[in-house]
Amino acid sequence: MDTEPNTDLRCAAIIVAAGRGHRAGGPVPKQYAALAGMPVIRRTLQPFDLHPAIETIAVVIHPDDRSMAESAVSGIDVTFVNGGKNRQDSVRNGLKYIENVDPDIVLIHDAARPFATQTILTRTIDAARQHGGAVAGLPVPDTLKQVGETAEIHQTVPREGIWRAQTPQAFRYQPLLAAHRAAAGEALTDDAAVAEQAGMTVVMTVGSEDNFKITTPEDLERAERLAMTQQVNVVGQGYDVHAFAPGDHVWLCSVQIAHDRTLKGHSDADVALHALTDALYGALGAGDIGQHFPDSDPQWRGAPSDRFLGHAMDLLKSRGGRLINLDLTIICEQPRLAPHRDAMLARLSDLTGLPSARIGLKATTTEKLGFTGRGEGIAAQAIVSVSLPDIP
Ligand code: MG
Repeated sequence: MDTEPNTDLRCAAIIVAAGRGHRAGGPVPKQYAALAGMPVIRRTLQPFDLHPAIETIAVVIHPDDRSMAESAVSGIDVTFVNGGKNRQDSVRNGLKYIENVDPDIVLIHDAARPFATQTILTRTIDAARQHGGAVAGLPVPDTLKQVGETAEIHQTVPREGIWRAQTPQAFRYQPLLAAHRAAAGEALTDDAAVAEQAGMTVVMTVGSEDNFKITTPEDLERAERLAMTQQVNVVGQGYDVHAFAPGDHVWLCSVQIAHDRTLKGHSDADVALHALTDALYGALGAGDIGQHFPDSDPQWRGAPSDRFLGHAMDLLKSRGGRLINLDLTIICEQPRLAPHRDAMLARLSDLTGLPSARIGLKATTTEKLGFTGRGEGIAAQAIVSVSLPDIP
């Protein structure tokens, strides 16, 4: 038996997301439900997307779900394939679709199993290379009873050698494609059954208890709890200054405040929102406001700065992140901000979705020292804390 690791192995993955089952409750199929702020399917795709041996990912969807699927996985390099009448037809469509890729190994995985890891993928790939087929799963630890209609026990089933099958299931591609073609029209429970029927050798590899399939509302709650433990907290800080110029109002925290001067800037010069936006970009390692909205671009002339903050918030959401709190300090002698504090707080809450208890908003002077003390401009600094998914 060939046990040399083969680094040239070319692998493809088929993620089966064509089911429309609503057993897990909620308005959308479970694979599109949010898990700690990230769609289930997006989380499912992470270890496949990150795995060095996997070159191609095909996601088999129900044609009606196309736009939902596209938005759920935006930014991840996948191809969508339309599913068939049942799971077996859907997998066959996926297998046919990647015929031009002709991978050595194909992995098939349920979109509703969001907690597979790269280690599990590697294990099934290696075993499929050695044996032809491999299924992630676990030995059954409980005693098994076969029961009748009224739950009376007919017999105790020996559990020795009994495993529960999960996905991913990995196979040599060409034999599996042939097996699926031969089994078209039959109703087999998983791809291993299709492979077994065709005489392929299929072995079990160790999956994990966390690699469960979301089926019921309770599964979705369990998945949410687990996803919450796989979060990492990061912080970001931002700082900005704008100089005064002749005028009659300033914008601070997206609130217009009458003043005997205005703030100079390409946009509306909302120094407070600029600091906050940069703090968010900082937390995401996503550059700064000048990179996303360059001064040189005429379309941002006089632009309301809530658009910049909106962009940073959208970016946070697309990474599956969540803002935990923000703390903003505005530094100036004038205008007096206390009368506008409630309006600014309400606007910040609107723009970020944070309750006011998670929003720090402070104003300070610099005791007449420095440029703010001389009334030449306004400075602002912001710190944010953000929760992001930490995918193993
Ligand atoms: Mg600025």
